[in-house]
Formats: sequence, structure tokens, C-alpha cells
Amino acid sequence: MSKVSPAPASVSAPSTSKGHRKALEWLDSSAPKRMLIGGQWVDAVSGKTFDTINPSTEERLASVVEADSADVDAAVNAARRAFEAPSWSGISPHARTRYLLKIADAIDEHAEELAVLETLDNGMPLSSSISRATQSAEIFRYYAGWPTKVYGTTNPTDSARFIYMLREPMGVCGLINAWNVPLVMAAMKIAPALAFGNTAVLKPAEQTPLTTLRLAELIEEIGLPPGVLNVVPGYGATAGGALVAHPGVDKVAFTGSTAIGKQILQSSASNMKKVTLELGGKSPNIIFPDADLDKALATAVATFCGNSGQICSAGTRLFIHESLHDEATERIAKIAATYKVGSPFDADTKLGPLISAKQLERVLSYVDVGKSGGANLNLGGSRVGDLGFFVEPTIFSSVGNEMRIAREEIFGPVLSIIPFKDEDDVIFKGNDTEYGLASAVWTRDISRAHRIARSLKAGRVWINTYAEADAVMSMGGYKQSGFGREMGAESIEAYTQTKSVYMRF
Ligand code: NAD
Repeated sequence: MSKVSPAPASVSAPSTSKGHRKALEWLDSSAPKRMLIGGQWVDAVSGKTFDTINPSTEERLASVVEADSADVDAAVNAARRAFEAPSWSGISPHARTRYLLKIADAIDEHAEELAVLETLDNGMPLSSSISRATQSAEIFRYYAGWPTKVYGTTNPTDSARFIYMLREPMGVCGLINAWNVPLVMAAMKIAPALAFGNTAVLKPAEQTPLTTLRLAELIEEIGLPPGVLNVVPGYGATAGGALVAHPGVDKVAFTGSTAIGKQILQSSASNMKKVTLELGGKSPNIIFPDADLDKALATAVATFCGNSGQICSAGTRLFIHESLHDEATERIAKIAATYKVGSPFDADTKLGPLISAKQLERVLSYVDVGKSGGANLNLGGSRVGDLGFFVEPTIFSSVGNEMRIAREEIFGPVLSIIPFKDEDDVIFKGNDTEYGLASAVWTRDISRAHRIARSLKAGRVWINTYAEADAVMSMGGYKQSGFGREMGAESIEAYTQTKSVYMRF
């Protein structure tokens, strides 16, 4: 049983810092949080609102206006006008760089406030939300370097003509995010959209709209022209569906589940929107006997417990060489048992709550699936307490790669330990999945490490590490984990299009 501490009794728990106080002040309003359309903070046309819940306490944190198709229509029209206005389309790349740098500075100045809001709304431990706020600022700084480096080409030809290629923005981008790392995801979508000269309508996840709305306020305050960024909180089927189907949207960037990703692809076809999809995963983390086992096993626990397992690239299929399976399982269970589940505001908490009652129910149902499927339950498997959506780190061993707990994305702190015989066996099993988001291999044999890195069908491979990220490296999925790439130089393709110009002298 993992260590447990009670969830915070109330969102108005004693504030410990200026950032904490500012977050509570921002929340403490009887009026619903409004949406941003064309530079104005407005109510929904329908007048509807929805509540966002603190997953640690199950209390209502804030009421938020609920966008649907009429609001999305207004937001897309505002984004179109802003895209065509000289105040955005006519400015120099240097000016776009300055906007992005100012946004990064604003995030840094408000990092603690944003982190507290993220922890209240999403439940991630405060230490994580603070580093996520810093990461979000860095994403804006990374993209601030791009506007002045988006080149076309001058192409080879004969002396009677001049032919060249221009690289231009897509236009209006519809951006849709999941709830698991909301602020970072907002940065990963807004920063490239703006850097490459587009305008945007962003729909945050209905479970976690708060940091996106606060970020939009900060962006407004730095003086971005009205309509360049619009934010429409609301539900997927209504606000999200309207955005994806809207004929005025040129590009959709979506992060979420594979099931919804498939629907997005279908509805985007109505006007041939360009689409990038960042979807689910069931990533293999492979440990050979020659690895640095202390490091490999400790990291294996950190990766399946991080964000309470609600990370798309989590290493939830742990492949251990059969000679080590029993010993490694015992050691991993011992480490995971020390992970404290509890208030995300406690400094020593490793696992905050899951996002919702629905997610808690889903995760616990997979514990039953694992048990009835014949896997050994070595640790956890239960809810923690009866207030908040807390669940224990849960470990299954002797899992078969064909079992449902090894094939389906659970999105909770549930690890499947799967034994393997040799390199060929683990490459086959590692790739025997519909997903291909991320993967890792632990070995001291560098030839084997690179052989396996080439053999794994996944958008990222870590060697003797896990979950490292850098804005200069792209992210994205093989197979049903999506297509297109975010971050890194490749993201220029996702947010621009090219035009070939022919001139005869
Ligand atoms: P989800 O697919 O249910 O929802 C994601 C977003 O899509 C939400 O904003 C939701 O409101 C919206 N949506 C739902 N139905 C829609 C529709 N019909 N049309 C338009 N929008 C719609 O996913 P979730 O449960 O919020 O997030 C968890 C999933 O996200 C997991 O599968 C996880 O792996 C994935 N994810 C992937 C990445 C990545 O980078 N690959 C990152 C984070 C999360």
C-alpha cells in the first residue's frame, strides 16, 4: 500500500505564496470565466456555462462559459479577419518574434500562479506544474526564433525565367487539446501557429480550461492584435465538432485519443483541412540484463506513475528479460510502494488524483480486466480514500502481450510487466501494438541500443533514459498514434504551406 495523505479540504486552503494567492484571487469570482473572441471577453451566445472541478476535492473550482457552434463561428470569423488584417499579416517577422518573446516573459512572471491553477484544475503535483510552466515559456522562446528563419527557395532554371518557392501560413488554425498537460499543450499549439503567421481558435479540454484562459489573458495584455488568438472553452461534440467542421478553418491540430482523432480526420475532410494528430500510446520500455538496473528500474516506476499515468508517452508496457522478471518485479513494486499518493500541494506527493470520476472508474475497471485476464497483481489496484480521484500505483507482472491490459491505453498508473526471451522476441512484441508514440531501451551494448532504436516503430526512442523532451526535437506518432509532427524544425511543415512562382522575362 502506498503512503497516503488526505486531499486538501478546500481550494481556499491557506495560500503559501504570492502566486498561490493570485491564483485563488483569479478564481474567486462569482461571474463565470468568459471566452476570448476578437479581443473581447464574452459570454456564450446560448448563455450556457459549465463547471470545472478540482479532482483532489471534487469541489467546483469555477464556472466557465460554454461555447457551441454560434460562438465557434464568431471566433473563426474573428480569426479570419485578424489573419487578413495588416496588423497581423502585414507585420515583419521581427515583430512576431517580439510578441512571442513577450508571451514567454509573461508566463515566467506568472509561473507560480499558472502552476497553482494547473494543479487545482488538473491535479498534477505542484512541482510538476511549476516545471511545466517553465517549459511552456521555453516553447514560446523556441518558436520566437522561427519567424525570421522561414525561408522560401530560389530554384534552378534556364536564363529566360525566374522560379521560386514562397512559404506561407496556412490561415486560420483550429486547435484542440486534451486535459493531461493543458498549459504545455496550449503553448505547443499557439506558439507555432503564431510564429508562422497564422491566427488561431483554441478549444481547451472541458476538464481543464483554466490555465489556457489565464494564458490567453496574459497574451491579450501584451497587446497581440484582436482576433489573432481566440479561446472557446466547451465540450468536444459541440464546440470541438463545430471547429473541426467549420469551412473557415484551414488547419486542425488535435491532441487527444485515437478514437476522437479518427472522427476529426473524417469531419476535416469537408473542406480538406490540413490535419495534425497527436494521439494515444502504449509505449514499450525495454530492459536488458546488462543495463544499469538501479537507474532503469527507478525510471520505469517514474514513467508509469508520472502525472498519475496520464501521459500519452508513458512506458506502460515494461519488457523485462525473462531471467530478471521476478527479481525486477519485486524491486519495482518496492520502489512504487514508496510513492506517496495524496494532495498535489504536498512537496513529497508523487501521485495526485486522476482527472475525473470517469477516469477513476476506467482505471479501476482495467484492474479487473488484468486480474480476470490472468496477470499477477503485485501492487495496488485500489482507489485511495473516498474523496478525490486518487488511485494507487498498480503493477501487474507475467503479462502476456496479447492481454487487454497490454494492448489498450489505460491512462492511469497501471504497469504491465511482460517477459521476453531475446532481442528478436522483444522487437516483435514491442512493435506488436496499434500504437507507435514512444519507446525506450536500456542496455550497455551500444550496437544493440542503436539496432533496437531503428527497429522500433515509434515517433520517439529513448536510450538509457525516458521521457526527456527538448523543443528542438519533434514529437509525433507512428501508426495509430497520429500523424504530422509538433515541435522541432519539422513543425514548420504543420503550420505552413508552399507556393511555386514562375516568372518569364
Ligand atoms: P479526447 O480525445 O476525449 O479529447 C481531446 C479533446 O478533443 C478535448 O478537448 C475534447 O473536448 C475534444 N473532443 C472530443 N470529441 C470531439 C469531437 N467529436 N470533435 C472535436 N473535438 C472533440 O482525449 P482526452 O481524454 O481529453 O485525452 C486523453 C488522450 O489524449 C489519451 O489518448 C492520450 O494518449 C492523448 N494524448 C496524446 C498526446 C500526444 O502528444 N500524442 C498528448 C496528450 C494526450
